[in-house]
Amino acid sequence: MDEQKKRLIGLSRTQLKEELQAIGVPENQAKMRVHQIWHWLYVRGVTDFDEMLNLGKELRAKLEQFYSITHPEIVEEQVSKDGTRKWLLRFPARGAGAPVEIETVYIPETDRGTLCVSSQVGCSLTCTFCHTGTQKMVRNLQADEILGQIMLARHRLSDFVGMDPVPGMIAPLEGRKISNIVMMGMGEPLFNFENVKSALLIALDGDGLCFSRRRITLSTSGVVPGIYRTGEEIKVMLAISLHATRDELRDELVPINGKYPLEKLMAACRDYPGLSNARRITFEYVMLKGVNDSLRDGRELVELLDGIPAKINLIPFNPWPGTEYECSDWKTIEKFAGYLNSKGLPAPIRTPRGRDILAACGQLKSETQKLTKAN
Ligand code: SAH
Ligand code: SF4
Repeated sequence: MDEQKKRLIGLSRTQLKEELQAIGVPENQAKMRVHQIWHWLYVRGVTDFDEMLNLGKELRAKLEQFYSITHPEIVEEQVSKDGTRKWLLRFPARGAGAPVEIETVYIPETDRGTLCVSSQVGCSLTCTFCHTGTQKMVRNLQADEILGQIMLARHRLSDFVGMDPVPGMIAPLEGRKISNIVMMGMGEPLFNFENVKSALLIALDGDGLCFSRRRITLSTSGVVPGIYRTGEEIKVMLAISLHATRDELRDELVPINGKYPLEKLMAACRDYPGLSNARRITFEYVMLKGVNDSLRDGRELVELLDGIPAKINLIPFNPWPGTEYECSDWKTIEKFAGYLNSKGLPAPIRTPRGRDILAACGQLKSETQKLTKAN
């Protein structure tokens, strides 16, 4: 990737139009050119201006001179026994600073394929059970770097329409390998709101990557003002990393609770637009042995979520070197789930995926792994 060139991926139509006009595309053509370029980028997935056949040689050469449309560089691609894939991606330095590396994970299931996308390199928060939280915050990912993770994964999984079909063809929704996106990789997406928003608006756009709002989920540790903005400006599904039912315990596990305590967090959840039994908020709850897995916790959870269309995702804790927490016993997790279910709260237990390639929740790293480079 040429680090000097501006990136076109991730620009809104207005921004792209401005860029085109800046290199001499006449005003009366600019809108059409934007439409054409978006189609090549987001429907076809091309990474070379020379493939944009309806643009004309001269314009293609000019675009090539000033802009880049490559996908992120793959440092390593690992495939787990269970089909989970993990990419270690490298992005060039932005401004001062060094190149950075982040991870993106693809999880195939029978009825869906989910891509877990990162929003930051490291995380500025320090949730005590999270490995990312022990790493220092390096920088926010830019919109093109967030979108680039999805585009790279679609490319590797052959999810783009590519060059074959007739021009103007709409990307088929059926049969896509990546049907769902979760902003659950590294970082706190609501501390990088503008970039996450720009990327997701293109992911949602019918002429962009064309994902359904119901199939994109943004997970937050509870940045209350960002939750309101997400509901108004992005309108995707929401997941809250809850993990505790009392402020005292949540202050410890998810320290941002000190700033946005449960009462404020729950109010933001109740106010989230468009909720119904078919559109529930997911509450993530990591099962920590002897910490948050008692029946008292279960009862408080039911009370806390009373009246909110909710689903609880019980996540068996994934240990990492140096952690003092342990995962709750399987029996305890099942009992906890059973209790919630009996109270009418769906509480699926998330089966850990890709454990052999360290792709599970909270295990993503920002530094180059000491594993051998694939192929
Ligand atoms: N920063 C955002 C999104 C990324 S974390 C957030 O906190 O919501 C995605 C989910 O994995 C969160 O619910 C997080 O709390 C959880 N998680 C982090 N470390 C974990 C671990 N070691 N085991 C299980 N889940 C973990
Ligand atoms: Fe950051 Fe989320 Fe990990 Fe907390 S759980 S440290 S917010 S990535």
